Amino acid sequence: MNQINPHLERLRLLRPVRGRLAAGLLCMAVAVAVQLWAPKAVAYVMDNMAALAGAGLPPSWLLLAFGVMLLQAMASALRYYLFHSAGLDIVNGLRRELFAALLKQPIAFFDRHHVGELGSQLSADVQSLHEAMTIEAASALRAACVFAGATAMMLAISPLLALVLAVFIPATLYMGKFSGHNFRKHAKEVQASVADSGKTAQEHFSHVRLVHAYNQQPHSLAKYAEAIARQMRLQLSMARLVAGFQGVSSLLTFAALLATLWLGSVLIGRGQLTMGGLAAFVIYSSMVSDSASSLSSFWTSWMRSIGATERVFDILRSQLPAGDGAATLHLSGQFAFRDVRFAYPERADLLALDGISFGVQAGEKIALVGASGAGKSTIAALLLGFYRPDGGAILFDGQDANGLALAAVRDHIAIVEQEPSLFSGTIADNIAFALPAGRAGMDEIVAAARLANAHDFIEAFPAGYQTLVGERGIQLSGGQKQRVAIARAALRNPRILILDEATSALDAASEQLVQRALDQLMVGRTTLIIAHRFSTIMKADRILVMERGRLCQQGSHEELMRQPDGLYLHLMQHQVSLAG
Ligand code: ADP
Repeated sequence: MNQINPHLERLRLLRPVRGRLAAGLLCMAVAVAVQLWAPKAVAYVMDNMAALAGAGLPPSWLLLAFGVMLLQAMASALRYYLFHSAGLDIVNGLRRELFAALLKQPIAFFDRHHVGELGSQLSADVQSLHEAMTIEAASALRAACVFAGATAMMLAISPLLALVLAVFIPATLYMGKFSGHNFRKHAKEVQASVADSGKTAQEHFSHVRLVHAYNQQPHSLAKYAEAIARQMRLQLSMARLVAGFQGVSSLLTFAALLATLWLGSVLIGRGQLTMGGLAAFVIYSSMVSDSASSLSSFWTSWMRSIGATERVFDILRSQLPAGDGAATLHLSGQFAFRDVRFAYPERADLLALDGISFGVQAGEKIALVGASGAGKSTIAALLLGFYRPDGGAILFDGQDANGLALAAVRDHIAIVEQEPSLFSGTIADNIAFALPAGRAGMDEIVAAARLANAHDFIEAFPAGYQTLVGERGIQLSGGQKQRVAIARAALRNPRILILDEATSALDAASEQLVQRALDQLMVGRTTLIIAHRFSTIMKADRILVMERGRLCQQGSHEELMRQPDGLYLHLMQHQVSLAG
């Protein structure tokens, strides 16, 4: 892969806001011009003190100065706002892009990355770029102008005096570059450790019931304390770097001032410089050193943000190519696995599927049966295209899935998970999730809910379909969540249905309601059920029995029960081992 320049890659983000930036730069030019002009005014007043002392400053002079100050104030305010709002735009755009890029990652990416870590990338990493690209970049630009302007003024006042200072400036700039490099390395480590401690906290909170039940609060605290101690160590080492940088640069600043005053007094003695000229020179030199140090501190924070956003840009660059093939497909529901071999990228040594072959007719109901870890969920994951097979092929209506657009295939598939996931929002939103935004009408949502036996309980809520669920809303029971999930699948009206049967026992009444809902949903659709319940297995047209990634038996319940040495008979006799 060819090397991408990290600076250019980030500067490209400026393009959409270039108009606003140009306006901001104009305001900045006004403010800088006034700033550069001020010491000249001071020099004028000092050198003409004798004449001005009696009469005071002329009113026209004061009026002009006031007008200029007002202009400067307005330009400063406008500059701040323009740069800041442009920065916010850039960062929000980047957040959107990153979110989109994360959603486009293959499912295997989410096996590797923790959800908390991704959250931190969306906020903290991007935020660091925000600061570098907005306020700091604006003041750095301003500093660059002041630096150039004040240097020119100093040269105009006394080239010899300016030459003395010239010795100090490269030293400051070099220091900035040197520490920038170190900052970048440190910042990356700090950012990673911040993500790490966030991940630890999130994990323990998401399992807070387990933590309480097992009295593991001290353990959780110890884990978190360890993570933040590491973060602190890294941050302290970063702070030491900054401290050293600041110490040396302030030393340089004062040494420069001392040199200026000494040589300045010599030049005044020789009549080559006026008092006002020296005063203006000192003010200009402090402008130069301030702007040099703000330039170098901008450089460090720029490098820090490049380090912090390296992972963000890695993700942006690594998006999946959109699958080829037609955007819409007509599928009958017929599919087949042909000698499929697959290992999870995270566990390359273990074949989760080891030469699986079976065909399913449109409308057929297939139960997948086998001990936990046999590979049932993996079959569902491959059918959904979460992963690609390492060998063999998955065929829909005889066409290799590799040649079909993933989204077009998924349009015909719906899944009801073992633990149904609901988003925070209304019940109607959760059902409508099955279709592209805005595609589902209320009538269709209600029809789907009726089919899923969910309509009555939804209507019983005061807000009906607009009832909020999820984190801030009401908690639905397991059976109710299942039925909302079934309604969601029904709304999709899929050709192929994947059911991951709930293992946790629902009470008999809600299990019956869920079961009836599923029975209605399955009518006329190809259904693949990861089956745990005897009743479901019995109803399937065909049962596939799996063992350690292989298909060891298939047939109807009666056929399989007639095979005395088969795994199926064994599993049926020890139904307990089916769960999980
Ligand atoms: P089942 O659904 O029959 O319980 P799975 O299909 O979930 O079995 O798992 C098959 C094998 O693949 C198991 O050995 C399991 O540990 C492994 N496995 C499942 N999911 C992943 C994953 N995301 N990453 C790595 N290994 C996995």
